[in-house]
Amino acid sequence: MKLATFRHDGATKIGAVEGDQIADVSGQPGAPTSLRNLLARGDDGLAWMRRAAAAGPRLPLAQVQLCAPIPKPQKFLGLGGNYASHLAEAAKAGIVRGSGQVWFNKQVSCIAGPYDPVHKPFVSDQFDYEGELGVVIGRRCRHVRAEDADTVIAGYVVVNDMSVRDWQLRAPTHTLGKSFDTHGPFGPWLVTRDEIADPHALRIRTWVNGELRQDGNTAEMIHRIGAIVAELSTAFTLEPGDVLATGSPAGCGGLMEAPHYLRAGDLVRVEIEGIGAIENRVINEPERDRP
Ligand code: MG
Repeated sequence: MKLATFRHDGATKIGAVEGDQIADVSGQPGAPTSLRNLLARGDDGLAWMRRAAAAGPRLPLAQVQLCAPIPKPQKFLGLGGNYASHLAEAAKAGIVRGSGQVWFNKQVSCIAGPYDPVHKPFVSDQFDYEGELGVVIGRRCRHVRAEDADTVIAGYVVVNDMSVRDWQLRAPTHTLGKSFDTHGPFGPWLVTRDEIADPHALRIRTWVNGELRQDGNTAEMIHRIGAIVAELSTAFTLEPGDVLATGSPAGCGGLMEAPHYLRAGDLVRVEIEGIGAIENRVINEPERDRP
């Protein structure tokens, strides 16, 4: 299933996407208030969704506004340097990483919808993109073995781990530079795990204004999804709806020989085979947000 959160008629609703339509399940008996609450019901929740989607009214996808499928996860984490191709281009710029998993927080307040505008901050001219596979947790868990990770995963989303490079690199935690408002768009929907035969065999591409900038494959991941879930759940409890961005292949604008940072008017598209695409227009940070 493709599970979506969307706006229609002034309300935020949940549903399942089929082709160019969306089944609105919000009015069905027993409907949860969010996808996060649906996932917390486990297999029963997914079974309910299948029944409700078959019974619920359908809307043309073009008539709704898709939101981030999990607009308010408890955690939104990113893994740095998880593709050899990206590490190689970073090393050229003098950025060297160790062999372990390096995680950072993206504050959940940075989440944006799959087609929402994203803000070029007025404090920086180093706004950049990172197309990534996002893993969404489906079950509350701790101390998960790598070989059991599948059992706690709800599905997958397309993430753009947008980054403000000067702010990112001035502190080892990366948190500020990864967390500006609107810099965590993801979606366009959550594709459930059963629909992705192998999450390590997906082509992942990023375009800026139609120019292909990143062209990788999730097969290139250094730390694979099982190891990721094992590592994080060793430290803390993962919750339904938590979003884990698994790293980006080569081709970030800031690491090009002549850096190409994003500017107002640019259109950034990230597409992952078998999941879909998100597309975000860059606009200048609105004046109203100035102090
Ligand atoms: Mg990243």
